[in-house]
Amino acid sequence: MNGRFIKPMRDIGSALFEVQKPARYVGGECGAASPIEEEDARLRIALCFPDLYEIGMSNNALRIIYSWLNEKKDQIVCERVFAPAPDFEQLLIRKKIPLYTLESGIPLSDTDILAFTVGYELLATNMLAVMERGGIPFETMRRGDRDPIVMAGGPAVTNPLPFAHFLDAVWIGEAEAGFMDLMVQMAELKSRGADRREKLTLLAGHPSVWISPSVEERLKLPHKKRIVRAIFQDFYKTEYGNTFPYPVLNPVHSHGSVEIMRGCPNGCRFCHAGYFYRPQRSKLPEIIRKEVEDLVVRKGYREITLSSLSSGDYPGIVELFEELNAAWAKYKVSFQLPSLKVDSFTMPLLEEISEVRKSGLTFAVETPLESWQCAINKRVPFEKIATILHEARERGFKSAKFYFMVGLPLPERGMQEADAIVEYIERIAQVERISIHVNVGTFIPKPHTPFEREAQLSEEEGLACIQHIRRSLKYRKNVEVSYHPPFLSVLEGIISRGDESVGEIISEAYLKGARLDAWDEHIDRDLWRRVLDDYNKRRGEGAWQSFLAQREEDALLPWREISLNVSTGWLKKEKQKAQKNALTSTCNENCTERCGVCGSQAAVVSNSILYKNTVCEGGSVLGRCEAVSELEQVKLIAVWSKRNAAVLYPLHDVARSFSRAFQVCGFHVAFTRGFNPQPRMELSPPLALGVEGKNEILLLWVDMPKDRLEELEELMLKNQGRILSSLNENLPDGLRIENLRMSAHSDDKKRTIGALFRAAAWRYVFASEESYTKAVNILADHHSDDFVLTKTDAHVREIGLIEIFSGASKKTQSFYKILKDHLSAEDHFVAERLECYGRLDNEGYVRLQDIL
Ligand code: SF4
Repeated sequence: MNGRFIKPMRDIGSALFEVQKPARYVGGECGAASPIEEEDARLRIALCFPDLYEIGMSNNALRIIYSWLNEKKDQIVCERVFAPAPDFEQLLIRKKIPLYTLESGIPLSDTDILAFTVGYELLATNMLAVMERGGIPFETMRRGDRDPIVMAGGPAVTNPLPFAHFLDAVWIGEAEAGFMDLMVQMAELKSRGADRREKLTLLAGHPSVWISPSVEERLKLPHKKRIVRAIFQDFYKTEYGNTFPYPVLNPVHSHGSVEIMRGCPNGCRFCHAGYFYRPQRSKLPEIIRKEVEDLVVRKGYREITLSSLSSGDYPGIVELFEELNAAWAKYKVSFQLPSLKVDSFTMPLLEEISEVRKSGLTFAVETPLESWQCAINKRVPFEKIATILHEARERGFKSAKFYFMVGLPLPERGMQEADAIVEYIERIAQVERISIHVNVGTFIPKPHTPFEREAQLSEEEGLACIQHIRRSLKYRKNVEVSYHPPFLSVLEGIISRGDESVGEIISEAYLKGARLDAWDEHIDRDLWRRVLDDYNKRRGEGAWQSFLAQREEDALLPWREISLNVSTGWLKKEKQKAQKNALTSTCNENCTERCGVCGSQAAVVSNSILYKNTVCEGGSVLGRCEAVSELEQVKLIAVWSKRNAAVLYPLHDVARSFSRAFQVCGFHVAFTRGFNPQPRMELSPPLALGVEGKNEILLLWVDMPKDRLEELEELMLKNQGRILSSLNENLPDGLRIENLRMSAHSDDKKRTIGALFRAAAWRYVFASEESYTKAVNILADHHSDDFVLTKTDAHVREIGLIEIFSGASKKTQSFYKILKDHLSAEDHFVAERLECYGRLDNEGYVRLQDIL
């Protein structure tokens, strides 16, 4: 390796093709922060969502923190890192390469701060893997002055003690409310040459930072008895620009997202997020409009989620939805609401949703009986669901999903809950002929909620309930039952409710090989069971089970020093009300049942929105086609190349990148018709991962005003350079459009790549003469009409050939595949497709780009 920074294509090279989805590990996405030089002296923060790339890239907290920290670029460099999948972890070990950040390839041990954002408990072992692979000791006590400070934040660490062995510090609350400023202060300390102790002392001085007891002890810092959650009151009037890379691999949530509300007004007693994000702050509609416009116009999104814990509770949601749909529908932009509480589900809202999505509705019922619903303070009246379902079916919805929990703190918890769920679903199935999907999970009594002292069902109890539900509904053809494995809930319960000793369980599981425990295909249940057994052998029978047990009223809770600003007295009162099935009213500006959150620093923001007096300007931004009466779909031909990291991108991700770049640059990409409209485009046949491409072709249909086609064609030719450079600026590293023109055959349906493609020219360059010679022999052995040798050159170890694809012939084999099958792993070569050829009316082969 040259220098300390890792360049994956150089330092890992072709071994990257051995792992699944290598594009996860190479960065280079459009919109990523610029790479830095090794001498750069700014504060280096590695920001990590400790799950795979596709999950992490969807995380809203990560987007916000990355974007905000990189705004302080005079002092701070913030780069991303995600958990390595086990195959990549092994590759790093084999190659002796440390885990690195995606932007510059900084080994994690060369950063100043490794900051995790932790959304769920089962990421714990991934966090340790990230640290150790990055060259950072995963135990706080083994870290020295040269090691980065390891921090975390997020809803899964509001009981930090189980992480005390691994994390130096934990930020409690919303990052916008002080975390970024704290990092600026850290940058100043670094520039003054401060040591680890000084930096940790700065962190310890912040009211929202928890410091690990072992760090306090080692550095002789005074013990903090109370850590208070930071609340970003200005959320409602802040426009989030979201300068965040556009993912090359399709993330799990590929939509653009506007967080329309933080916090939730419905004090559901089981919901940790409801307490963690109090109070409800609705974003001003004018800010929402600006964020939507930014996502559509500058970021190229066509599907936008209006996200929050309970989007239906946004005041004026129907008007907002109506307005946004009206403004953007003609640009094929659709809006979705991810979480709707049944109470907030109105017919007008259903009307709006059904405009864009008819696939299914989701109802988080949690518990079936009305009295039980009162106990958890979440009313989901059966009659209302029945009415919604009826209306939904009338509007073409085909299915509905129902979420339930078992093990809620009810006198009847367990089997009686299971019976009631079965009865409830039977009733629903009788009322509406709609396909029903039921998902059942085990309730986890989370810290900082009124149920924090309640017991959790054991795995056996949870499983018995779930099996009962499955068995009972097995005979219903239109009902499907799935479940969250109770064993995973047990692990989540232990990590969220445990004390410092849980760190032993996490580290032992990690050392034994546990990774990606939230993934069904990766979790090793036997491994975890052995680790839990060993823990009990050391700590006494029933030791880990005690974390799931009921806690006495006077028992000290592991998270007692953390305050989410909700008073202990209020939590107790809520629990008593739960026992009497009594409801608590929703949060509002004139709250009379104060929990302790609202005060001088925080208050509910629940706007009344006067839509009638406002005009949405969003749509006019893309309005170049708006005034035109008639549009025509015009076929554009782009010739492009694929090199560097882009050789790792699968074809559908390449297609997504192109359609986005064209949209961002103001082209009106046309969409296919049907249930699930997609950008209308066609690409040259896929290349195997690792193969470069020159003169590749993209056909893209765009809407253009019919009466200005000639003028626009001329404009495109005249401004070719400018158009290409702005398109290329919006493409990930390695993808490049070389030229662009309108096709003269837009109307000819036969002039498509699929119909005309017949042959391709290739160049293979070998790393050694030996490999070259082997390849020439293989070529001789496989001589057939499918290959036409154009040249071989021993001097530059290069083979050139034309490969013929007869289409109908099953015998056609790819020369690339033949080489891959017959050469060994040491025979490195670079393959490049130079040109695609086609035939028109059985005449000779011509360049495909010339006949489309
Ligand atoms: S003080 Fe009242 S309005 Fe504010 S979060 Fe608590 S319950 Fe809700």
